[in-house]
Amino acid sequence: MERRIIVVQGLVQGVGFRPFVHHLAQKHRLGGLVRNSAGAVHIEVEGDPSDLDHFLTELASRPPSLARIERIAWQSAAVRGTRSFSIEESRGEGEAPVAIAPDLAPCTDCWREFHDPNDRRYRYPFLNCTNCGPRLTIITGAPYDRVRTTLAHFPLCPDCQREYHDPGDRRFHAQPIACPACGPRLELRDAAGRPQDDPHPLAIVASLLLRGQIGAVKGVGGYHLVCDARSETAVAELRRRKHREQKPLAIMVADTESARAFADVSSAERELLESQRRPIVLLRRRPGADVAWSVAPGNPYLGVMLPPSPLHEMLADAVGRIPLVMTSGNQSDEPIATDDDDACERLRGIADFFLTHNRPIHVRCDDSVTRVIDGVELPIRRSRGETPCPMALPRPCSVPTLAVGGQLKAVFALGRDRQAILSHHLGDLDHLAAWRAFERDLRLYEELFRFQPRVVVHDLHPDYLTTRYAEERARRDGLMRLAVQHHHAHLASCLAEHGWHEPAIGVTFDGTGYGTDGAIWGGEFLVGDDSRFYRAAHLRYVPMPGGEKAIREPWRMALAQLRDARTSLPAWEHALEDAPVSMVERLLERPVACPITSSMGRLFDAVASLVGLARHVSHEGQAAMQLEWLAEGAAEVGQYPFDLVEGEGTLVIDTRPLIAAVAHDIQQKVDPAIVARRFHDGIARMVADVCRRLRESTGHNTVVLTGGVFQNALLTRACVSRLQAAGFCVLRHQRVPPGDGGLALGQLAVAAAILSGAS
Ligand code: ZN
Ligand code: ZN
Ligand code: FE
Repeated sequence: MERRIIVVQGLVQGVGFRPFVHHLAQKHRLGGLVRNSAGAVHIEVEGDPSDLDHFLTELASRPPSLARIERIAWQSAAVRGTRSFSIEESRGEGEAPVAIAPDLAPCTDCWREFHDPNDRRYRYPFLNCTNCGPRLTIITGAPYDRVRTTLAHFPLCPDCQREYHDPGDRRFHAQPIACPACGPRLELRDAAGRPQDDPHPLAIVASLLLRGQIGAVKGVGGYHLVCDARSETAVAELRRRKHREQKPLAIMVADTESARAFADVSSAERELLESQRRPIVLLRRRPGADVAWSVAPGNPYLGVMLPPSPLHEMLADAVGRIPLVMTSGNQSDEPIATDDDDACERLRGIADFFLTHNRPIHVRCDDSVTRVIDGVELPIRRSRGETPCPMALPRPCSVPTLAVGGQLKAVFALGRDRQAILSHHLGDLDHLAAWRAFERDLRLYEELFRFQPRVVVHDLHPDYLTTRYAEERARRDGLMRLAVQHHHAHLASCLAEHGWHEPAIGVTFDGTGYGTDGAIWGGEFLVGDDSRFYRAAHLRYVPMPGGEKAIREPWRMALAQLRDARTSLPAWEHALEDAPVSMVERLLERPVACPITSSMGRLFDAVASLVGLARHVSHEGQAAMQLEWLAEGAAEVGQYPFDLVEGEGTLVIDTRPLIAAVAHDIQQKVDPAIVARRFHDGIARMVADVCRRLRESTGHNTVVLTGGVFQNALLTRACVSRLQAAGFCVLRHQRVPPGDGGLALGQLAVAAAILSGAS
């Protein structure tokens, strides 16, 4: 006989781990106990040594589907003669943090029950088990237990009670467990938010949607606005009411087969669509698809998701499995509504009815957005279905470290030991409501994970709200404070997700980031690792006439580039009509009115404007995206040139030859698709050329592609193929977004490296 004490770390709580251990112990005839403790599962087992070995092997090799084991440690202990095996209650509230699973769509077993007319949870919109269902969005405190979820005020019926306490049951200690007898219920409300007395609201909801009405539906992490995606009238009306002019809207379809009716679905895309994470996947749309033009105007892709919850499945069924627009329940860029009364207030005038229920959402969580490039995922927004699943850091944080991220597409991260917990997507913090949500949700995460930071890391930008927050927080709580340059954080973020801390060449292309010289960077080749970097090359500085205004009006960047290249395009300039060309020319003579930038995002904007796209944009990156779509229509036919100029220890990439060539092509009336394509391939060649030169001078053979510009699939493919052909090892993002949603992870990685004294 032997007794072993085993500690399992990782995502092992709230994922059915204890029933699994119980089952395994019985299978191998072992006595002992299992309990949750300190962010781990604590197991004591006693029996024949060979049975113990088998137990350990199975524990490690076949854990429950949602569990992610990071470490198993064990030691021998004195034999106690325990014969039976028991599951013990979690030890006290003073214990260190639990890991919390993300919110997931039903597992296979739950779907089976959902579709089984003989099951007591047949078509019950709130069914779940230890392997699926809501998590982060319903948790109100730590440790994770039913009393600290928004289901606390739903006492379990005897049947649920039995399942909850039966170690052999799939619902053993499933905290959000519910059934039609004791769980939450649906409720239909009218446009004014008045409850409508109807026990089966879905039939009514379906008929309203099919008549072209707009509904607000309470989803997993917030309200969705919903309408018939085939109806141009309904979709256009939704855009008008929501004040959303051009940004594409996502649609929900019943299953992959339905998605295939209007989009191509590869096997990797299918896997993502059907995964329990249920993200919005960008799929290439098919010509002639029966989806209203207004869903994604001029966009060759469609954002598609399958039902992320049983309620959504019922909705899809009720409308006869037609595609439904499924967009966040908010006005323009405010945070998505979660609270029922607040939703009725804020969505008044947008929604014609509300399909809601009495299970409160405590933590807001937007849908995740992702795409596939060359068979591998490229995340655009990491949120529902992923957060707060921890990610591993390449180096441990020596003390608890809070990374506050950037200003746009905000995400914060908590770092402890080797774990980074990234928050859900918090939106653009320029909006006061988004900023309030940031502060509230950060407090909540710190409480949930019992996290008290000793260090706070932030962006170098002095005016980001997150920077000011970090300063204030450091002062108030006596924290050490660390500023990380924006593009260094992007580079470190990509290295971190690959578990890499060797030096690399970081090709970091985005719209805006505060540079160490105070200029606006964004077309950068950094050489470095997680602890340090230097700026090895960058795009030539050009003025941004009118500062921020030049982001919303890409023609300003086009004009700045033309003048910088001592070129003019009279026909194009004339076509600007009402646009005050002369005013911008005067601005260009006054350096105070024109911050200088090396941004690749702005270069894309300028070229997009020159080929006649996007005079004004409603969101950053819009012009660049249109340029990508345009370029997809042309085959490779040469590339635009550029010059490399040796500066003071830095290579400067002179874009004037490129702009002159673009202007020449436009004057020669070359097909705009070809101009767009030559531009993309010119950038890719420039990337490969600069990387080759940097390899000669540094010896580094690893290239990282990071920054929001690398959401561009065409550019990413072109860069990867040229770099690989030149023998480089290329790393690009697969788990966090290349854009600012990935910054916080990079900030943590840099802080961990610096504090560990890495060099
Ligand atoms: Zn389940
Ligand atoms: Zn029940
Ligand atoms: Fe950025």
